[in-house]
Amino acid sequence: MLIVQKYGGTSVGSIERIKAVAERVVSTIRQGNQVVVVVSAMSGETDKLIGLAKSVSSNPSDREMDVLLSSGERVTTALTAMAIASLGQRSIALTGRQAGIMTDNLHTKAKIEKISPEKIKKSLFEGYCVVLAGFQGITESGDVTTLGRGGSDLSAVAIAAAIKADVCEIYTDVDGVYTADPNIVPNARKLDRVTFEEMLEMASLGAKVLQTRSVEFAIKHNMPIIVRSSFNNNPGTLVTKEDKDMERVVVSGVAYDKNQAKLTVMKVPDKPGIAAKLFSAIAGANINVDVIVQNVSSDGSSADISFTVPKADCNKALQFAEQAAKDLGAKGVAIRDDLAKISIVGVGMRTHSGVAAEMFDALAKHGVNILAISTSEIKISCLIEAKYTELAVRVLHEHFKLDLAN
Ligand code: ADP
Ligand code: ASP
Ligand code: MG
Repeated sequence: MLIVQKYGGTSVGSIERIKAVAERVVSTIRQGNQVVVVVSAMSGETDKLIGLAKSVSSNPSDREMDVLLSSGERVTTALTAMAIASLGQRSIALTGRQAGIMTDNLHTKAKIEKISPEKIKKSLFEGYCVVLAGFQGITESGDVTTLGRGGSDLSAVAIAAAIKADVCEIYTDVDGVYTADPNIVPNARKLDRVTFEEMLEMASLGAKVLQTRSVEFAIKHNMPIIVRSSFNNNPGTLVTKEDKDMERVVVSGVAYDKNQAKLTVMKVPDKPGIAAKLFSAIAGANINVDVIVQNVSSDGSSADISFTVPKADCNKALQFAEQAAKDLGAKGVAIRDDLAKISIVGVGMRTHSGVAAEMFDALAKHGVNILAISTSEIKISCLIEAKYTELAVRVLHEHFKLDLAN
């Protein structure tokens, strides 16, 4: 088999861990497989680099951030290749550029446009284990880019699709995808299988076990993913296309995201075209807007428009919102960054009604106030105060009995 194995930050977080990864890789190869390894930076390293940048500049350029951030993965790539070689297995470390990972030039959240896997294929053919730096690519003009936080997952899935691997294994610090973050809900249950769609919702709603864009890519290329632990040999979770055997449970998981800030443009004159003007300015800056709520005043003359953005984009979004507020004759912009989004996900919601009411009721019973709501076919999200996050996750997990197998 041709296997891509991705190892996240904790899995390569120390020299001992890197040696353990090397052992696993070599044993997979000795069982007759070809292996491409994708590694993250050592745990904490990317945050440390971001901290260093902030200590020299309050507003570092995205291009320079990418030169900096890509260095973390370079270190683990080389060390992992060396550790594999020391076990007697030929191995070669490749940076994003050397691996032919071409991206657009949206620095710090670049999109993969094309992969030219010739060097990877040639090295595999020659009997090397290929170790790639995750999270990074290169623009047409030769600038280094990174793929957004958690982007090594995307590197792995994209490489797996490009070389037509049989499977893409994502090794992390938990045994698989759970009904809720196992670090918050002790009785969360590991799912044996989860559909692409559910995984996409869970990831985009904050379950960082897989990066959202890696799941989008897997869907597009129908690349099955296995999420498992690098700390043991437990079987893990298969993320794959929905099939008839899969149970259509109503709620399959709870997710949370503390990484959201809410901006409110106050007293916007209520006339057509206002929302379009506000949000096109923000979209133009490549900021993803999530939950949107509009409250019209009782006399109908003005409205408050609230929306959430990732915390990292909050300052940029504020600048645009303030400009738009001025242009539109609004009163000003208020900001809150003490909120969290809590969500339930499940394909069975398509055919069940009343799930939203149950969710609101369970939260209300525990005194958790809901500030905004957004729904889709297979998920319901509520914006709440961040201090209630853990409580809310546990309450919903309990209410929908997610600890019990169906
Ligand atoms: P890596 O460094 O390997 O990429 P991450 O920290 O990005 O690992 O992702 C793994 C973490 O995701 C787990 O430690 C866990 O706390 C968190 N997580 C959140 N929601 C879930 C979930 N539903 N199932 C499993 N893990 C989850
Ligand atoms: N090192 C990067 C991060 O911390 C990418 C990754 O780990 O996937 O976000
Ligand atoms: Mg990750």
